[in-house]
Amino acid sequence: MKLPPLDYFCPSTLSEAIAVLAAHGGRARVIAGGQSLMPMLAFRLAAPELLVDIGRLPDLKRICITAEGVDLGALVTWRDIERDGRLAQAHPLLSAAIAHVAHYQVRNRGTVGGSLAHADPAAEMPGIAVTCEAMLTLVGSGGMRIVRADEFCLGGLSTSLEPDEILTNVRLPPWKHARRWAFEEFARRRGDFALAGVAAFYDVDAQGLVRNTHIGVIGVADRPIRLADVEAVLNGRRVDADLILQAAAVARDAVDPADDIHAEAAYRRDLVGVLTERALARASDITLPEAA
Ligand SMILES: Cc1cc2nc3c(=O)[nH]c(=O)nc-3n(C[C@H](O)[C@H](O)[C@H](O)COP(=O)(O)OP(=O)(O)OC[C@H]3O[C@@H](n4cnc5c(N)ncnc54)[C@H](O)[C@@H]3O)c2cc1C
Repeated sequence: MKLPPLDYFCPSTLSEAIAVLAAHGGRARVIAGGQSLMPMLAFRLAAPELLVDIGRLPDLKRICITAEGVDLGALVTWRDIERDGRLAQAHPLLSAAIAHVAHYQVRNRGTVGGSLAHADPAAEMPGIAVTCEAMLTLVGSGGMRIVRADEFCLGGLSTSLEPDEILTNVRLPPWKHARRWAFEEFARRRGDFALAGVAAFYDVDAQGLVRNTHIGVIGVADRPIRLADVEAVLNGRRVDADLILQAAAVARDAVDPADDIHAEAAYRRDLVGVLTERALARASDITLPEAA
């Protein structure tokens, strides 16, 4: 279908963009890479009066790596992340997860801010943001606020963004050098949205015990979620094959996916178990015995 009739505005400053959004009171929509919004317009799932193209706003394409962590501007694309050789060191979990996003064409245009604001429950970036306790900066006519990723993602395609707010950047906390980590996902074809994905990391203390475990999953709820029960199984223990199998069983029970056209709930639940097993085995360099 053709797009519904709409006006288009391309502001050159953030304050100009916010003023226009505020003046339209919810009838205007930000467009960044357009990779999710354009199909929504074509399918009439969105019908704004006005598109506010933030593609020319200054400073939103920066990737900053400091002692405070990794700061990604909202207009950073998947391709920008892939091309920035520093990120593989500064945040390997982010780099590994983003490698799974979409295909070349989409990767060249799709943005970090667009993905977070679109809030697809199977998208990698919101999953990494929730797993890593990222902080998101939102700027609107009422000023600036900083929100935790898990408070930002409210549900399927739903966030705490107000209609006159723009997400300007996301900050991932600093990454510890010796951290153990892995990202595992399963999609029917490479570049498709994941049926399910697991992001895992933990630190190891001087006694060889696991600390600070973070396990996040995508594709199995209406938003990315952390699996606190699995984290509790691992924290304070020494990782071995038995512990990994135990954690995977807890992961399987901890999710409650719905049936949909892509997979039955039971399949997705099993998948979370398998992906948790693989992620923890990879993170800890442990080879698991072949299943009987
Ligand atoms: C074929 C295909 C395959 C894909 N596969 C994957 C995949 O495997 N994994 C994955 O994660 N994604 C996938 N995507 C989505 C892609 O990653 C998009 O980049 C992403 O969903 C949206 O980014 P965008 O910049 O294109 O946002 P847009 O489409 O421009 O906007 C999306 C939404 O976010 C809002 N918005 C955008 N930027 C901001 C901002 N800074 N502040 C406030 N609101 C904002 C818009 O108003 C709109 O509601 C796929 C897309 C396609 C078309």
